[in-house]
Amino acid sequence: MARGERNRHRIARRGLMLVLSSPSGAGKTTLSRMLLKADPNIELSVSVTTRPQRRGEVDGRDYHFLGLAQFKAMVKSGKLLEWAEVFGHCYGTPRRPVEKALRAGRDVLFDIDWQGTQQLREKARDDLVSVFILPPSVSELERRLKRRAQDSHVIIGSRMAKAAGEMSHWPEYDYVIVNRDKHEAFTEVEAILAAERRKRERQVGLSAFVRALQARL
Ligand code: 5GP
Repeated sequence: MARGERNRHRIARRGLMLVLSSPSGAGKTTLSRMLLKADPNIELSVSVTTRPQRRGEVDGRDYHFLGLAQFKAMVKSGKLLEWAEVFGHCYGTPRRPVEKALRAGRDVLFDIDWQGTQQLREKARDDLVSVFILPPSVSELERRLKRRAQDSHVIIGSRMAKAAGEMSHWPEYDYVIVNRDKHEAFTEVEAILAAERRKRERQVGLSAFVRALQARL
C-alpha cells in the first residue's frame, strides 16, 4: 500500500502513556533510548529535577535542571502532572507537553519511579501502560551501576541499598520484564507497545472506519 493510501486508512487513536520504572541500573534508560530511536510515534517526557547535572547529560534533553525554588513554584502553580523526591532530590513531570502529545494522538514515554507512576495512575488510569524492569541478579545490577560510573561510590552504595525497596513495587505494574539482554528486553517492550496501541478503546476512529467499510459493501 502506498504511503498516501496508508495515511488515508490510518485510524485515529488516542495517545498512550508508557511508563518504564526500575531500580537504577536495571537498564530502563538504555531501553528508553532504544525505543525513542526506533519509534517516531513516541516521545520522551523530559522531567524537571533539582539533582545536579551529570557529565554527558544535556539540559532540556535528559532533564530540565532547576533550583529548588523554581521546582516548588512549578508544584504550587500546578504545572507538574506528578512529582516525587527520589534519592534526596526532587523530580517531576511537566504537564503541558504530555497533554499536547496525547491530544495529537502521539504516545509519551516516562522514565519515572513508582511514586510518580502511582500518581499518574490516579490521574490517567485509562491512558497508562506501566512496565517494571527487573535486573537479572544483584551482581549484574552492581556491575551496571559501576560501569555507569557517573556517581560516586557513596551514591552507588546508597542506590544499591535502595534497590530492594524499589523492587518491591513490581506488583503495581501492568507488565514486568527481566532485563537479561537489552535486545531481548527491547523486543518485549516493543511487543507491549504494539499490543496496547491496538486496544479497541484507544482506537477512537474505529467506528467511523468500520462505517466507511460497510458503506462500500
Ligand atoms: P536519575 O537521577 O538516576 O536520573 O533518576 C533517579 C530516579 O528518579 C529514577 O528512578 C527515575 O526514573 C526517577 N525519575 C526521573 N524523573 C522523574 C519524574 O519526573 N518523576 C518521578 N516520580 N521520578 C522520576
